[in-house]
Amino acid sequence: MHSRYPHSEVQGEQVVCIKDQVFTESCIKWGNSWFVELSRCAFQSLEVDNTSELHENLAAMSLSICTYGNPVLREKAVEVMGVTPDLHELVKEMLETMYAEKGVGLAAEQVGRKERLFIIDIPAELDLDENEVRENPAIEMPIVFINPKITAHSETIQTGPEGCLSFPGIYANVERWYEVDAEYIDLQGMPKTLHAKGLLARAIQHELDHLDGVLFVDRMSSVKKVTLKSKLKRLTKQTKKAL
Ligand SMILES: [Zn+2]
Repeated sequence: MHSRYPHSEVQGEQVVCIKDQVFTESCIKWGNSWFVELSRCAFQSLEVDNTSELHENLAAMSLSICTYGNPVLREKAVEVMGVTPDLHELVKEMLETMYAEKGVGLAAEQVGRKERLFIIDIPAELDLDENEVRENPAIEMPIVFINPKITAHSETIQTGPEGCLSFPGIYANVERWYEVDAEYIDLQGMPKTLHAKGLLARAIQHELDHLDGVLFVDRMSSVKKVTLKSKLKRLTKQTKKAL
């Protein structure tokens, strides 16, 4: 899932160094508000002399995102049999990629892998209900979901804008359950359960769909799909050309 700030505009971006850690500082306009986002990422060990060198390093470290039209996005992911060092490495690289792309969720399929695994990091400022109250205050981010399942859900539905890193620049309203219970294995190999609401519940449903080869275009209204038809066609063409 998800551009972190759907319908936002990045007005300026610079690389800053704070207490020996490297961040990308973006000045973002979202609705009528302006704010500055510091992207949290695991690049602090990089020693760089200038911004362009840093950007080259970031590009080299990040996995590339498979976009709509890449057949891997329609495949079914395969159960993870054990939490290996390779899996730790994959998760580390997926987190770097997700933060670099300003996403809040990423499934292994989106970086061309088959593991039944996704990651989510919802920032506190987006984890709010309509009264600005935190939806999931006790849940620590990021969360690594290995072999995840939804075991229960509310009858209540939420309708809201969704995006996807595999569909750059494309957003649409999608209906999702408002609350879900999920079970999964964490990166230490421990079985976990979780009760999620709001955007976190939405992200879990979105990412779990990826593992079954289902995409958010399959969940949007047919009217919306018609309005996005030419954008989707263009994206598929670009993807196929790059494969
Ligand atoms: Zn997605």
